[in-house]
Amino acid sequence: MTRAPLAELLHRIHTAGGFVNAHSHLDRAWTVTTEDLKTRVYAPLREKWELIDAVKRASSEENYFNRMQYALSLQQKMGTKACLTFVDCDAVAEERALKAAQKLRDISESEMGITLRLAVQTLKGVCTPEARTWFERAVPNVDVIGGLPGADRGREEEHLDILLSTAKSTNKRVHVHVDQNNSPTETETELLAKKTIQWGMEGKVSAVHGISLAAHPMEYRRKVYALCKDAALSFVACPSAWIDARRNEILTPTHNAVTPIDELVEFGIPVAIGSDNIADLYKPFVDGNMETELRILLESTHFYNIDELTKVATLHGRFALGLKSDNLVAPQNATQSNTQGAAHNSSHSTAHDAQGSFRNV
Ligand SMILES: [Zn+2]
Repeated sequence: MTRAPLAELLHRIHTAGGFVNAHSHLDRAWTVTTEDLKTRVYAPLREKWELIDAVKRASSEENYFNRMQYALSLQQKMGTKACLTFVDCDAVAEERALKAAQKLRDISESEMGITLRLAVQTLKGVCTPEARTWFERAVPNVDVIGGLPGADRGREEEHLDILLSTAKSTNKRVHVHVDQNNSPTETETELLAKKTIQWGMEGKVSAVHGISLAAHPMEYRRKVYALCKDAALSFVACPSAWIDARRNEILTPTHNAVTPIDELVEFGIPVAIGSDNIADLYKPFVDGNMETELRILLESTHFYNIDELTKVATLHGRFALGLKSDNLVAPQNATQSNTQGAAHNSSHSTAHDAQGSFRNV
């Protein structure tokens, strides 16, 4: 290696086609105000889910388009070549954000030199009749089915069943926010992996975040990693999104509040990277620079493998966005087993019976 490690890594990423931002919310990017900085940025996550409604309510389709175009142009300037954004589609945003996003997707490649893909954000859940209606209206217009089981608290399984059945019938990939709170009380990644197998969606589902995995004991983590591998789950790490997890007195294994890429890669589980929120109520100081995100990830996990980090920044992102076929980055050491039962398109073999129940082999 003739270059310094960081220069070598950036060179490799450039050679491999440039950064892929596999998770963002461009429809709210660059909306934080100086007033927000005094008060609302300190609200707990669930309160912010409601507070963001004010911005959504006040945004016309044109506002949404201009905002997303600005955010995407900055992504392009910072070296991002492809980007997936979640888009709010609910009773507050109605279809304004989604229509603006579709227009932007149509011109992003030809006029801006960056590929844009859309996922439906389910901030209001999918289980109530009203939320379900908005979700179903969005589905034909998005590339990826997005999920947030925490928005349907107590009905998380039903939430995932709706996402996965919809994705299966429409042949789309699924990205689900799971285990965000850096807490050993959360087990959403495990549930997502089990549901992925049950619905025969192996190789088509990405877990966004998975932070709380690292708050569990090693025995549990290893069990869930094996399960994720059987589900051919991939992950999207958004390092700056949760590295600010608030101090508390809960005792857990020592770790940083970030997707445990060091352990996931060891298990052959692909990890991509995203910016998540950019300069909004959630993350006022994040600018969406993927080089910064990658450096936070590698430093917070002591993960210095340049080959793997290059894949995290490029190939695994394209896989998660559906821009590459599944078999290119399916876990390499897949469990050999029968594949009877639910149909799936992944090259990754999965152990499950006809009813889809998990069986670790
Ligand atoms: Zn997100």
